[in-house]
Amino acid sequence: MVKYAADDAKMSSLVLMFGGTFDPIHHGHLRSALELTQVLPVKKVHLVPCQRPAHKDQPKATAEQRLAMLRLAIADESLLFADDCELRRAGPSWSVDTLINLRKDYGNQQPLAMVLGWDAFIGLPNWSRNERLLELVHLIVLERPGQMYQATDEVLQLLEKHKLTADETLATHPAGRIFRLSLPSTFEISATHIRKLLANNLSARYLLPDTVLNFINKQGLYR
Ligand code: ATP
Repeated sequence: MVKYAADDAKMSSLVLMFGGTFDPIHHGHLRSALELTQVLPVKKVHLVPCQRPAHKDQPKATAEQRLAMLRLAIADESLLFADDCELRRAGPSWSVDTLINLRKDYGNQQPLAMVLGWDAFIGLPNWSRNERLLELVHLIVLERPGQMYQATDEVLQLLEKHKLTADETLATHPAGRIFRLSLPSTFEISATHIRKLLANNLSARYLLPDTVLNFINKQGLYR
């Protein structure tokens, strides 16, 4: 497991894209996004709710509700940005299209990384145009307690081929490296568990921000 290299702080800043269903956003996502800005030289994190997830069940909350919860959750965090770009596109959400647009916006030299949990990363061989992803961005793969499933040989080969070497940092290249990162705080929280609690009329407090929980209660979501 590669840990943060202190030298990164001296390099130019990274832009991160952290996509998800966010049904609902929770402290596993939020604390990860915030800690990334503390351990890496990050200038902005785009949190991107997907329209229709390509590889999962369809969300219970609408796109508008998921975006509203995200906005409530990150209010006042200056480096975190609720990016509705996938919600403005019709059809299923392909991360690669979002990354093509971000690359256009930031230019070819900007170090750009997509953040994803280990559980999502091991599904990468099934993603649309996955070989194009690493031409566009780096991948930052977060440890996720309770979801550290076995990787296939294909995933292990990908990790080996793109691993960051000792003399490199993510900021020294615009794209093409995979960085496995263990953040200081890790939480065994999932949106599935939160939805199950709420469906069973049990409290989900402390797993997600109170502002988000109040919104869920007012809208009668996940009951
Ligand atoms: P669900 O339980 O509905 O599948 P989820 O909790 O996995 O949802 P997503 O919105 O699907 O949340 O996740 C978006 C991204 O955030 C994925 O890359 C996922 O691996 C990562 N992620 C989710 N929860 C955590 C967590 N507790 N710690 C680290 N990463 C997480």
